[in-house]
Amino acid sequence: MINLQNFVQARYAKRIEDCSDQELYYALLAFTKQRSEAKCTNDQKKKVYYISAEFLIGKLLSNNLINLGVYDEVKQQLAAAGKDLIAIEELEMEPSLGNGGLGRLAACFLDSIASLGLNGDGVGLNYHFGLFRQIFEYHQQSTIPDSWITEQSWLTKSPISYQVPFANFTLTSQLFDIDVPGYKTERKNRLRLFDVASVDNNIVYDGIEFDKEDIFRNLTLFLYPDDSTDQGKILRIFQQYFMVSNAAQLLIDEAIAKGSNLHDLADYAVIQINDTHPSLVIPELIRLLELRGISFDEAVNIVQSMTAYTNHTILSEALEKWPLDFLYRVVPHLVPFIEELDRRAKAIKDHPAVNIIDGEGRVHMAHMDIHYGYSINGVAALHTEILKNSELKAFYELYPDKFNNKTNGITFRRWLMHANPHLAQELDRLLGHGYHHDATELEGLLAIADKDSFKTALEDIKAHNKRKLQRHLKRKQGLDINPNSIFDVQIKRLHEYKRQQMNLLYVIHKYLEIKEGKIPSRPLTVFFGGKAAPAYTIAQDIIHLILVLSQVIANDPEVAPHLQLVMIENYNVTEASFLIPAADISEQISLASKEASGTSNMKFMLNGALTLGTLDGANVEIADLVGDDNIYIFGEDSQTVIQHYMDGSYHCRDYYERPSIKPLVDFITSDVVRQAGGIDERLWRLQERLQNEDYFMTLLDLEDYIRVKDRMLTDYEDRDAWLDKVIVNIAQAGFFSSDRTIEQYNQDIWHLKREEN
Ligand SMILES: *Cc1c(COP(=O)(O)O)cnc(C)c1O
Repeated sequence: MINLQNFVQARYAKRIEDCSDQELYYALLAFTKQRSEAKCTNDQKKKVYYISAEFLIGKLLSNNLINLGVYDEVKQQLAAAGKDLIAIEELEMEPSLGNGGLGRLAACFLDSIASLGLNGDGVGLNYHFGLFRQIFEYHQQSTIPDSWITEQSWLTKSPISYQVPFANFTLTSQLFDIDVPGYKTERKNRLRLFDVASVDNNIVYDGIEFDKEDIFRNLTLFLYPDDSTDQGKILRIFQQYFMVSNAAQLLIDEAIAKGSNLHDLADYAVIQINDTHPSLVIPELIRLLELRGISFDEAVNIVQSMTAYTNHTILSEALEKWPLDFLYRVVPHLVPFIEELDRRAKAIKDHPAVNIIDGEGRVHMAHMDIHYGYSINGVAALHTEILKNSELKAFYELYPDKFNNKTNGITFRRWLMHANPHLAQELDRLLGHGYHHDATELEGLLAIADKDSFKTALEDIKAHNKRKLQRHLKRKQGLDINPNSIFDVQIKRLHEYKRQQMNLLYVIHKYLEIKEGKIPSRPLTVFFGGKAAPAYTIAQDIIHLILVLSQVIANDPEVAPHLQLVMIENYNVTEASFLIPAADISEQISLASKEASGTSNMKFMLNGALTLGTLDGANVEIADLVGDDNIYIFGEDSQTVIQHYMDGSYHCRDYYERPSIKPLVDFITSDVVRQAGGIDERLWRLQERLQNEDYFMTLLDLEDYIRVKDRMLTDYEDRDAWLDKVIVNIAQAGFFSSDRTIEQYNQDIWHLKREEN
């Protein structure tokens, strides 16, 4: 039993009833931190260091209360004093330490590693302003610093500090820890975030501008500062080296403290490199081992036996290649190591497809990871196959045994128990608690006796979640949405391959139909949310079109009652937790072969939305699990798309000229859109892109998309059949628990022992 009243009394000398929500938030923060701090850290001999430039952890209060097993008690004791935990939680700032899926995956993994009783910490950087905060002004995205670090926070300053050498100076690091309590476990793990004391928040001006060369004062200000310029790229190398040098020093110190003589380092530590951002850890760890008296040859072997790499993308622009020249300027002491690793790799095979240093003097980070790691994994079955058969074929021929698949997952603690408590309660009632630890027990739903009453409950829960989202958006953005409409949701980073533009062309199609008098049987609300990289012009243009179109529709009394377009400002984990449980349709419409896995597709399915998607990433596995009748698949498959790229056989112009497509694309620059505040330059650029280039083949799939989406909206009206599909989706979502993913990482790659509770 906990006694919150006593805790609050001791802290403020007053009763819960008399505290403000802000006071209660800080009291709960302290209370929760104390309970995690009281737990011992996991002390198994071998430990995984999950190094990642991003950890999109989301707000922690409720999540940690759930994992500590006191959420219900705390909520009740607050309620007894007339206080609402949900309202208190609103005051928490969301740590802005990630971009999107990759960072959110890292956060889900930390939760699962801890919950499975495995020893593993996340290692990253403590960006003061995170990514950026997105605001909309004049129908465009503006960016401002996201100051998420409050005076009292989840960060705990650690005495640990290291020297990190750069070309002309050395920086002293400062470590901050965030505790990661597992779900109802004895022990805890940690997220280790390195920072620099000299970093100065005040050098930021005019949005998110700052002096990119003032490393002393800027190093940990932002995540991924704009790398469209050389200065931005160099700053990124500074950040990456700072992150991995700290990680490597931490790992060595912890291993030595547990008795390692360094020759046996691989018995104490395994490194998971999350995408290529931490790749410099390979030469850095070799360098540090050499400094500690280990020969180069042995150091290479040690590092090779303890380093594993996860690939997250086949988009070539996202695969990092750093010019040697830049590396000389930032970390000259590391360059000889990289050159020697390159020489040795070339002795095995000298070919552009596998070389570390290419003919233009650029270092291919992924290539270094694959040569000098013992495992490379893709993040969904299709993605891993594409890596093996096309993108990394030459490597697969060289090292077939290193390749393996680990289909991504999500933690059900956050994406079900916290985000959708009513659904979780209903599942508890129907299935017991077994699925909390083994998510595949959700399959029990397929055999429940009283399906009808479950369907009624599902309808009630969805309606409740829609009203909850309605209240939230009213408060946050002053928006009025219709809770009796179909909620159609596409929330993810803005990128052409994700094809938000295709969804917009559907909205235009719907708008034009309504204008012609074809009134839909039920109103439709289309939600978008997502940030665009500041230097990614076309992504900014797409945001602009979303915002202007929503204005066009809202201002048209003929259309507005039937169709609404909503753009969520500053999409993040908190917003996702409101949107996903309220959704009916999950838009997963990337061009087949381009989305490595996707994870929002899993969150939606678990929360009772049906997928409208291409056969891409983990959608393929969702389709396999639920069967063709319970998912809405459209568009060309990855084979066809890859073939189009290889032989240049896709010509968007041919599609554009079709009578079903041309009016939709041309509408982008119509007077209606221009007069609603459209910016000609942006609209024309976007329209041109679709007409003449369409690199991500939007028009290829557009007709099929419209056809299948229309069918989906019709199917929605048959509530009984729709809910049958929903039930199958929830029942089959268990496979996508990140607990399963982490079990597989552990069995195939890490080989850690489980802490017995
Ligand atoms: C899950 C999640 C993502 C990943 O979404 P995808 O649709 O898989 O790209 C991105 N951002 C946030 C905040 C998330 O919660």
